[in-house]
Amino acid sequence: MRLPYEEPLTVLAPAEPVLPEPPRRGEPGGPPCTICAGTSRPPIWSDANWTLHPPAGSSLPGTVWLASRVHVDSFADLPGSVAVTFGPVAARVERAILGWGSFARIHLYRWGDGGAHFHTWFLPRPLGMLDAEGMMLPLWEDVLPNRPDEELVAAAKAIGAAMEASD
Ligand SMILES: [Zn+2]
Repeated sequence: MRLPYEEPLTVLAPAEPVLPEPPRRGEPGGPPCTICAGTSRPPIWSDANWTLHPPAGSSLPGTVWLASRVHVDSFADLPGSVAVTFGPVAARVERAILGWGSFARIHLYRWGDGGAHFHTWFLPRPLGMLDAEGMMLPLWEDVLPNRPDEELVAAAKAIGAAMEASD
């Protein structure tokens, strides 16, 4: 692993806690949920429980995010009937991305700090890019230049097509 920055870095002290935390998108008092409003990237694949979307800006073609159809916050809030389908659908997404590009591994992230609608990120680590192992992948993804939007959408559509084929 290697940071995408020059060494030595300076360690900072964390800021004082902000309490209460500001509401996120889709929380009471916060901005509207963009997923429910249909103003996020349109899905390139969906089924009864899940929608799969291209990123809005990324340096890593093959990146997609998976959202529940139901507006709930996290794993703990998913209805049981939906929660049990997460593993199988995540496996299909992973297989579809690995089948599309030359990747070592697919990293799966659930942050939840931006919006309160359950979604997980699938970030492919390019084969041989050992700099980006583990927690370094989202850092490298952030500092490398974004790829053209058409490329990101085309990659996601190919992944969506592979999802359809694996039904
Ligand atoms: Zn929502």
